[in-house]
Amino acid sequence: MDHERARERLVARLDEQGRIERDATREALLAVPRHEFVAESRRKDAYDDRPLPIGADQTISAPHMVAIMSDLLAPEANDSILEIGTGCGYHAAVTAAIAGDVKSIEYHASLAENARERLSELGYTVDIRVGDGHDGWPEHAPYDGAYLTCAAPEIPEAVAEQVRPGGAIVAPIGTRRQTLVRARRRADGSLDRTEHGGVRFVPMQG
Ligand code: SAH
Repeated sequence: MDHERARERLVARLDEQGRIERDATREALLAVPRHEFVAESRRKDAYDDRPLPIGADQTISAPHMVAIMSDLLAPEANDSILEIGTGCGYHAAVTAAIAGDVKSIEYHASLAENARERLSELGYTVDIRVGDGHDGWPEHAPYDGAYLTCAAPEIPEAVAEQVRPGGAIVAPIGTRRQTLVRARRRADGSLDRTEHGGVRFVPMQG
């Protein structure tokens, strides 16, 4: 089966399972070639709904998790979004397909370099910086939204501060047991949090 057909079937399955809410999320999942983001030997598995290894002991999240996080963040066209944890760049590409402008921070230089190359080849506008996501990326703040693809004990303060009032932050929160959290930033800077089930992500470094 060719990649495009496999991708359509994956999205159809996620739809049947009720995993996709927004049209923008569905269209982005249909558009982004996940197989381009994994090693050659893993391409045959690229459209299975499961995490895959991407090197440096890290994994690309399962497609349904990217769908759920994208629905929770709900970026609009022309939004500016901050991502912590570029990994292979797949999730960043999905977000860029919706929002247009993504800034992403990756801890591992080798992953950042690969992702940068791949994303620019495929034509996505994602700026990637090597560093510790705990600091966010203040030069481009404020963001309309932010998300973490690695689990932190709490939402990093700097990241919360760099999101505009009304903007959302989506993150796996916890150490051994993690919960997917969406926090909306109120005008006074406090966060209005909702919880969206148990998840398993790699821990945030640093
Ligand atoms: N969204 C990615 C999945 C990344 S897995 C994708 O689509 O492939 C989580 C990533 O977070 C890993 O690449 C890991 O190196 C990175 N990470 C861990 N701690 C970090 C930190 N403090 N700052 C930035 N990135 C971090």
